[in-house]
Amino acid sequence: MTTSFTIGDYEITAVLDGPSTARDPGTIFTEVPDEAWNPYRSFALNSDGKWQPDWRSHLIRSTSGERPTILVDTGMGDVVHEHTGERGKLLDNLAALGVQPEDIDIVVTTHCHGDHIGWNVAYDGDMPSLTFPNATHWIASRDWEHYSKSENDNPAFDKSVKPLESLGALKLIDGIEQLAPGISTLPTNGHTPGHQCILVESGGQTAVITGDLFHSVAQVTEQSWCPTFDWNTAMSTQSRKSLLMLASTQEWIVFTGHLATGSSIGKVVSEDGKSVWKAL
Ligand SMILES: [Zn+2]
Repeated sequence: MTTSFTIGDYEITAVLDGPSTARDPGTIFTEVPDEAWNPYRSFALNSDGKWQPDWRSHLIRSTSGERPTILVDTGMGDVVHEHTGERGKLLDNLAALGVQPEDIDIVVTTHCHGDHIGWNVAYDGDMPSLTFPNATHWIASRDWEHYSKSENDNPAFDKSVKPLESLGALKLIDGIEQLAPGISTLPTNGHTPGHQCILVESGGQTAVITGDLFHSVAQVTEQSWCPTFDWNTAMSTQSRKSLLMLASTQEWIVFTGHLATGSSIGKVVSEDGKSVWKAL
């Protein structure tokens, strides 16, 4: 199973934190009638007809060993999950790649939902500390401003993002920001106010890490389908369509936040006039 690809001077690796709970797709994609899933059921839903995404991060390392070492998102975190009885495995899976928490220089967050920020901060009682002690956390200021307002209640943000400020690890960013030569953020707002993808351009190749631009492989074809998690569905649909169009025409390699391990990395190709996912 391939979880790594080299893009010019960089290696990008999908790193699993764990499988999420399996849910009835109708409870997540509430506007999509059950029969509309039929063409996608065999590969977009599990054998029980449930939608079951994975939680994962992506590691970006230079092939020559140069810094920075970049982690995109930090999974659901160090909690025991009821449906597996196990803790998130992000740190174990990073260690298996030879990466310790202190090796991470930058954590860039696609958006401030609980399944993407979980490992940011550890707690000893009420006292937060940084899981990645040498990392600066790059957070979209639009998410920071939105979730800092009490009316936009987001306990995961309060637990895992807000403390970054007092811990001296917060870097708020706007728009397109370069993390390293050829690596930048790309705003794709809508899933949250500040949702962003990470673009990696090197050696004539381009890859994109898509966060929660889409949550099901069916959405590569049905690009206007939105899960209930999307903050602004008109905006998320526009962002999804624009990015998937670019990924298709420019033949980008696409690293997804939630598609099943084994088919989470792929290309968007045109088949019989439709956009479809081709796992690599
Ligand atoms: Zn997510």
